Amino acid sequence: MVDNLASLKKTKQLSDHMIEYIKQETDPLTGALSLRGFYQFVPEFLKVLRKKDDIDLIYLNIEDFKAFNARNGYDRGTEILLELVDVIAKVYSERLICRAYSDRFIVMCYASEAERGIRKINRIFAERCPSEGLVLKAGICRIDIEHIDVAASCDSAKIAADSIRKKYGVLFRYYDQELSDAIRKQRYIVENLNRAMREKCIRAYYQPVVRTLTGEVCGMEALVRWEDERYGLIRPDILISTLEEYQLIHKLDVFMIRQVCAEFEEEQKRGEKMVPVSFNLSRLDFELCDIFRIVDDAVTSHHVPKNMIHVEITESVFNRDPEFIQEKLRLFHDAGYEVWMDDFGSGYSSLNVLKDYDFDVIKIDMLFLRNFSDKSKRIISSIIDMAKDVGIRTLAEGVESNEQLAFLRSIGCEKIQGYLIGKPLPPEEVREDLAARNFRYEDNGMRGYYDDLGQINLLSVHPLERVFSGDRQDWLEELSDTDHIAPIAIWEKNGSRGRFLLTNRPFRCELKSIEGHSPRSAEFEMNDEAGLLYRKVQDFMAEMRRDREMHDACFMAGGSYCRVRGRLISMYGERSAYVVTIRNLSSVSSLSKGKQIRTEKMLRALYGMFDALYVMGETPEQDDLLYADVDCWENREFCSDTASFREHLKKQWIFPEDRERFLCYVRRDGILNRVRNSEREVLEDYFRFTDDSGRYQWKAVVMRILRQQAGNQILIGIRKTGVEQVDNYTGLSIGCFKPVSMKKLQELSRAKRTQEDRALS
Ligand code: C2E
Ligand code: MG
Ligand code: MG
Repeated sequence: MVDNLASLKKTKQLSDHMIEYIKQETDPLTGALSLRGFYQFVPEFLKVLRKKDDIDLIYLNIEDFKAFNARNGYDRGTEILLELVDVIAKVYSERLICRAYSDRFIVMCYASEAERGIRKINRIFAERCPSEGLVLKAGICRIDIEHIDVAASCDSAKIAADSIRKKYGVLFRYYDQELSDAIRKQRYIVENLNRAMREKCIRAYYQPVVRTLTGEVCGMEALVRWEDERYGLIRPDILISTLEEYQLIHKLDVFMIRQVCAEFEEEQKRGEKMVPVSFNLSRLDFELCDIFRIVDDAVTSHHVPKNMIHVEITESVFNRDPEFIQEKLRLFHDAGYEVWMDDFGSGYSSLNVLKDYDFDVIKIDMLFLRNFSDKSKRIISSIIDMAKDVGIRTLAEGVESNEQLAFLRSIGCEKIQGYLIGKPLPPEEVREDLAARNFRYEDNGMRGYYDDLGQINLLSVHPLERVFSGDRQDWLEELSDTDHIAPIAIWEKNGSRGRFLLTNRPFRCELKSIEGHSPRSAEFEMNDEAGLLYRKVQDFMAEMRRDREMHDACFMAGGSYCRVRGRLISMYGERSAYVVTIRNLSSVSSLSKGKQIRTEKMLRALYGMFDALYVMGETPEQDDLLYADVDCWENREFCSDTASFREHLKKQWIFPEDRERFLCYVRRDGILNRVRNSEREVLEDYFRFTDDSGRYQWKAVVMRILRQQAGNQILIGIRKTGVEQVDNYTGLSIGCFKPVSMKKLQELSRAKRTQEDRALS
């Protein structure tokens, strides 16, 4: 309870008579003066104050106190009020304090005490109620001592306090000329609203929405503009807030929706290409009129398809009585309208609201893009990740730069709106403006197709959970093994050609590990009808088109062995789109620890099939002996040294009769072309290799191209032929030596391999 009367009395500012009088005019809850008492008593009190000093009225209130009461209960609200009045009385112990109503207090003080006092109240109040998240706002008005009008001064201070509502970090504001002009404008708006609508000074401007995937215009937002002869263009900020304050907003919104529908009908009749239009509703529309009926009637009477009109609701409408709004929104949904949440992330309720209500799209508030930092990028990414998780599409507002667009596209944000594409313009200008900048309008039939694609989450650790059915748990486990975002791309086939519509970063990394490919170069190879990949890709897509299940395929791309998995997402006309992931199984670094060990074992087993593996570069310095089996090259302690291996191979180990042929076969000059021109880019030939005792053995020398980032090299493998033709060319026979013809040897080798293949399969 305020008890500053005692201190007023003590300081002899008030006579006993006055104190008695004031006591009868106090607010029973807080003990502060009532508004009536305050109005009556201010002139009296002014007499006892210092004449030469300026006097201020401070209007102080708690922001959104109604919502606090609703959330925490009336009793807790009362406790908070008593706390606040106690703080005010401590700071202004010798000044008049009034409780105007609810959480609104007025203090009269010397001008020199105003700002300091407000800051002090704010600090102490925050210390006493630290966890409530309560925000104080104050307005200050100088009293005109010559012509005292207490009520008007209180109003002005209130206006000043209300003008900083929702302005983060602003604690107080003076009532000044600027504010007084704004008030005049407000009055003008209220008094001239009907005339402005009648005379069509109020109109819908349209701002385009563009699909990130295609760059095509896929929607428009209708935004109100008042073209006024006195004030010029009146923008929505002051217009909407004024009409809400005066409970007139529904008049404007009803006018807007009718205008939007009429313009839609007219343009459609003219044969223009149409895209859906969204319009904004305020919370009060639901309270002041039957807005659903009005919208639906307008849409029907103008023959606008319902799926071409979307309703935007700003998230703050859920701050109070969310069930009421939900019920109203369900009417729109059930009738076939899309409902979009506007300004997502600007209020505190966002996450709850998403969880509980059916929105088709969330419009991410432009505040996130305003400060385009790593942190805000992470926030936007997680909003998109989360929205896709619950099946809601996404639009980012306020996109002003190409950098922002590239980022939003890369994380799978489906649509954008902002000055980068275009400002809101009158209907007759917006088409012209877009055409002048070569923007195309999206074909209406494509909308469902692209909406399906928009469901693919390029960011999730488990991106395929919604995309692939649960029976493919094995793959999910394999992907989650990495604990990173999976490599995901959306591939579109349009007629006979295909292209990547979207690739996420892990996918591009994985591609890069395959012969340094980029999405563009991979696209090129996959579309090359003469290339090796073309048929495989076509077959794989045909397989995916058979059902919506997941399918696997393995490809050899250059030197890399890749596994691709994918599923059909959507089809429209000649187009079909697939979500695909890729693993370069030859790239050890792309695998998890467990996989790496398994792969290394596999590679060792593969090496074991060769007596030696040798990489030949463009110059001898680039040569590299990868592997030489000690048992095959026994007594040759130099076998781990690349240069001596090469020299011995050329000069000693090849049976003299085969030596010239061998040197010709492995000649560095032109070798790439020779291999490239061979069937399947593999060369194979047979040579007799001798050992120290003079015996020889036929071995196959296989060569294929090894594509490396630094350039192409040749991988040479030397392996036993499996044909046991061993002899002693010195004449010391160990059995019957029958020189075998080369042709025969190849036949034998092939037969043996087929046998092995069969055994393996
Ligand atoms: P909103 O629905 O979020 O509309 C987006 C606002 O952002 C528009 O402001 C638009 O002009 C502006 N904007 C768009 N792109 C950019 C950009 O790249 N950079 C920046 N800085 N701003 C951009 P506007 O037209 O002033 O509208 C403000 C708000 O007023 C709207 O926010 C909406 O909530 C409300 N509003 C507009 N028209 C109506 C209406 O007919 N009825 C109701 N109830 N509210 C409306
Ligand atoms: Mg909007
Ligand atoms: Mg918005």
